[in-house]
Amino acid sequence: MIRENYKRIMEEIEKACLRAGRQTDEVKLLAATKTRTPDEIREAYEAGVRLFGENRVQEAREKIPQLKDLTGAQWHMIGHLQTNKVKYAVELFNCIETLDRKELVDELLKRMERKSIKEIDLLIEVKLSPEESKHGCPPERVEELLSYTLQFPQLNVLGFMTVPPYLENPEEVRPYFRELRQIRDRMEEVFNRKFPELSMGMSHDFPVAVEEGATIVRIGTVLFGPRLK
Ligand SMILES: *Cc1c(COP(=O)(O)O)cnc(C)c1O
Repeated sequence: MIRENYKRIMEEIEKACLRAGRQTDEVKLLAATKTRTPDEIREAYEAGVRLFGENRVQEAREKIPQLKDLTGAQWHMIGHLQTNKVKYAVELFNCIETLDRKELVDELLKRMERKSIKEIDLLIEVKLSPEESKHGCPPERVEELLSYTLQFPQLNVLGFMTVPPYLENPEEVRPYFRELRQIRDRMEEVFNRKFPELSMGMSHDFPVAVEEGATIVRIGTVLFGPRLK
């Protein structure tokens, strides 16, 4: 089941790349594993998935240690990160996609130093819609947050992530994806360096995200099936 779903998603990614004139290997599928069991995650790994994302540190602390044998698997934090959970996050994750405030930078530095962690990959989460429930750095503060974060060479900012509002018609989400790419392009000019990663697109809108430049699509439902919890 997961194997067939994975194949279908990869074909969709390939088609979207073709439409956009992009190379297929520019896009990585990240399996969003919230509520999924270690067995389901193993099945995804066996199908070919190497990139996994968890939303909650507590859940990640329970599951990731059980999956240490999955050689080459990478774990990303894709949910809102509370400051008091950073001490666990720096050991669990290869990349934190949800850096959205300076306070988190300070806490990351402190916890990395204590645990002798030399570097960590980060994406800046940008909040592109005004919904109260959404976290992320407002677009007008991205430059300031980047400027602060880039002072520290152990913090490896690779790009940007966003969770747009859920809109039935994926075409209506396109402007949000485009805006994230434009913010990235602007920041590359301001800081005169590359930010190659754009993490955007979920089950119902990932082909549009790929057309707009996504390099990481975060997929749960169409890979594992509907979430029951
Ligand atoms: C759950 C989740 C996803 C995947 O959502 P689906 O619609 O199930 O594909 C992607 N990104 C984040 C941040 C999530 O929490």
